Amino acid sequence: MASRINTGFTLIPNQKYRRSNRRSSSYFSNTLGSDSQPLSTLGNFKALPLEIFQIILRYLSVKDISMLSMVSKTVSQHIINYISTSSGSKRLLLQDFHNLELPSKRQDSAILEHYRSLGLLFKRCTLLLPTRERLKYIHKILAEVSCFKFNGCAAPIQCLGLPCYGMFLQTLTAGWDELECHRVYNFLCELTNLSRKMQTVVCSKPGSARKLELRIRLFCRNVLLDHWTHRSDSAFWLTRILKPWPMVNQARLLYIIFGPISPQDVVPREWLLENNARLLILSGNNICFTFMASKAVNGRAIELAKLIVFLALVCEKELYCMDWAVKMMQKVCKVFSTAMERNNFLQNVANAFACVIMEMLQSVMAGDRDEDDRSFLNLFHLVHAQANFHKEVLYLTMNTLST
Ligand SMILES: [Zn+2]
Repeated sequence: MASRINTGFTLIPNQKYRRSNRRSSSYFSNTLGSDSQPLSTLGNFKALPLEIFQIILRYLSVKDISMLSMVSKTVSQHIINYISTSSGSKRLLLQDFHNLELPSKRQDSAILEHYRSLGLLFKRCTLLLPTRERLKYIHKILAEVSCFKFNGCAAPIQCLGLPCYGMFLQTLTAGWDELECHRVYNFLCELTNLSRKMQTVVCSKPGSARKLELRIRLFCRNVLLDHWTHRSDSAFWLTRILKPWPMVNQARLLYIIFGPISPQDVVPREWLLENNARLLILSGNNICFTFMASKAVNGRAIELAKLIVFLALVCEKELYCMDWAVKMMQKVCKVFSTAMERNNFLQNVANAFACVIMEMLQSVMAGDRDEDDRSFLNLFHLVHAQANFHKEVLYLTMNTLST
């Protein structure tokens, strides 16, 4: 993670040196200006009563407070104490996560931005603590925000709590090395009992613990995975999540975390016929014929006819041999058992050409033009496809007649 230092955040010059020099025992004492703190490091603030200092903080933006916290250890501690006061936490721990009256992006990003700044403030205030102490302290402060908890929100899908928590953690941990990030993951796991919960879902039948599956998905996505700008960071956290599990459970977890969440998402939308035709062509002659023959056997002549049209269109667009499409049609014809069925099918092919051309023409005339005139180009190709297809049919019949 060290390679991904966001230059907007504090750089930590030399952690080992810093760590060996820390004195964390009295760092969070609740008595302000206590004897253990050298008051001189307050500078001119020394003259101010604590109440005034906190009133001043109220007028500063979160970003400014985080800058101020770097002035000295004493100032930083005063700020920490301010965060713990009821007015401080009320101001800093915004909990407006469900404001759906104005579901504008701007509002969403305002609260996310706030938690980004807050992450920076906590990062700076707790700079001198070892990772675990840091996390414990931060957790203690954040514990009052119920929407940050794994099961804390009653309407988790509409809630911005976890994304804000994720944003906060991302800012806090930006620039930390992998070992420290691993500690963060372990800390979160302990806190939320995540492994146990994952165990429950991977060991039960799919969907039998739907709510838990959803919570796991939201927690992993919103808190751990979704905020990173660099894929390698997402990959790092995803690896933390997956590593402890055997492959079969990893697959299941991946599905829970990234898969579709509603049955509507599961059923793929109908493919465009052109794409079907493309896939069939790429699947090779045998699969293509088997697929079409089964339609013929089941008497689905109209569907089949339309497919022939799109096979011809793909051949035309991709400069494949049109001869192939005609031969395929010929082979499929033989699957129909009676002459009447065969003729009906051939009639359907001719109709399908006319029908699809008219549809495309209508779309061109309706002016549904996209930037690159795709509907017009499609029509252009289709008219040529029909001509080429027709030519091959003529060759076939005329040559048969002349031999
Ligand atoms: Zn919530």
